[in-house]
Amino acid sequence: MSSRPFDQLPFANTFVDELHGDASGLRGARQVPGYHYSRVQPTPVADPHLLAWSSELGAYLGLEKPPTRGPAVAALAGNLVLPGMKPFAARYGGHQFGNWAGQLGDGRAIALGQVAAVDGSPQEIQLKGAGPTPYSRRGDGRAVLRSSVREFLCSEAMHHLGVPTTRALSLVGTGDAVVRDMFYDGNARPEPGAIVARVAPTFIRFGNFQLLAATDEIDNLRALTDFVLRHYYPELGPPAPETYLRWFAEIARRTAVMVAHWMTVGFVHGVMNTDNMSILGLTIDYGPYGWLEPYDSDWTPNTTDFGTRRYAFGQQPQVALWNLAALAQALAPLVPDPQALRAGLDQYAATFNATQHALLLRKLGLTPQAAAADQALTGALPAALAGAAVDMTIFFRQLSHLAPALLAGSAESELFGTLIAEATYATAPGTDQPLRDWLHRYAQRLRQEAANSEVIRAGMLAANPKYVLRNYLAQQAIEAAEAGDLSKLETLFEVLKTPFDEHPAHEALAAKRPAWAADKPGSATLSCSS
Ligand code: AMP
Ligand code: MG
Repeated sequence: MSSRPFDQLPFANTFVDELHGDASGLRGARQVPGYHYSRVQPTPVADPHLLAWSSELGAYLGLEKPPTRGPAVAALAGNLVLPGMKPFAARYGGHQFGNWAGQLGDGRAIALGQVAAVDGSPQEIQLKGAGPTPYSRRGDGRAVLRSSVREFLCSEAMHHLGVPTTRALSLVGTGDAVVRDMFYDGNARPEPGAIVARVAPTFIRFGNFQLLAATDEIDNLRALTDFVLRHYYPELGPPAPETYLRWFAEIARRTAVMVAHWMTVGFVHGVMNTDNMSILGLTIDYGPYGWLEPYDSDWTPNTTDFGTRRYAFGQQPQVALWNLAALAQALAPLVPDPQALRAGLDQYAATFNATQHALLLRKLGLTPQAAAADQALTGALPAALAGAAVDMTIFFRQLSHLAPALLAGSAESELFGTLIAEATYATAPGTDQPLRDWLHRYAQRLRQEAANSEVIRAGMLAANPKYVLRNYLAQQAIEAAEAGDLSKLETLFEVLKTPFDEHPAHEALAAKRPAWAADKPGSATLSCSS
């Protein structure tokens, strides 16, 4: 297929055509009982101009990169609604920080419809920051440049790391100012506005089902479930109660795989509310997320969560299970024996443990052998990493390079000393002893591998990224972009597309976090203000 301009794409509208919608088109904030969505047009912006474009995703959608200004970018900003589009905002609810919040919905995301990727799969395009909808509550329906850069960069970076995620096609500046109080401390100021066009087969969340169950709209609940099964899980068979059970187990399985990836790359989502959980098991809604620098299970970048640390790094596996239990509760009216949904929760725990273990073995260059001993080895690693406050990205990357020397039986203690010195943020002496002990155990185990050392090293380098979206690097790219300089954003984006490769010109982007960035707002601390 030759590539086309975005403004000439044909759109399909299965969500709108097959589910129940409020057709009034009114934008006023309100409850919308009885419906899956509301039709709503994006609100035009002053001067839409392209700031960044994902060529890989563009190619997958058969799209050519648009010029900075013109009809394609107007469509990617919501200024031009194409003839085939039926824009809508979805109605959903959710638990926020453990409390039922009632109706939430797409308060600033407007879906345009679906386009066919080059492999024929339908992909929904959604504009984040496209103006008010019935679900905007007190919000303005807009997004600022800083949070849009963060969503754009991180969703693409995660994809290139192999983590299941929604994608980002374009980042468009709006030419409008958006007023935000970044830390909710009375210092509101105007910031540049932006819109990200994000892409996924569907953006349906756990919360879409929860709200319908909570308002006792069981026909709508079944219709949405059958819709998701028909379009996104056809391999599970025709909709029926037994299929619902298999489907729930499959959602649990995918969620477990997603969280296992987060835990092995050091990603902290930051706001794992049930409205931010994809029904496809994709990482969704990049807000106050962060990347672990000193390994610390208790770390969260989200200032709103500093009190309870509900969504801290080490909590994520538990919270995903909690969220799945909330989804199970929402699906209970659809099955004769709701207890049968428990099998899905068991599936979650088993898949999470197995996937995290398998991913860690790969990172360590080990092939599965004695299961119990291997489990003990990977299971002891987090505490050892935390004790030494190491940067996990640097630790695993440097360990990959050490593998041949360890296999050759070189002086281990010296090698480990250098490795830890390169990766640690700790300043107090002695904190690294558990990690040193762990590394000696690991080296013994590594020598039981049959493959030659270069094969092992190459396998480890392909599993341990050199480049991740370090919090302060994102912030530097944002500050430059706000000042009109896109070069940092562009360089970072390019490098993050091949995070397992060496980029000799960009060694600095793989460096340990500098001390000044340790508690810099926007780098180490973020709020939900976006
Ligand atoms: P989030 O914390 O981004 O998951 O958002 C929670 C809810 O608030 C969702 O219903 C969002 O659509 C809504 N929301 C967040 N920011 C805005 C905004 N600027 N305008 C309107 N609604 C918003
Ligand atoms: Mg959200």
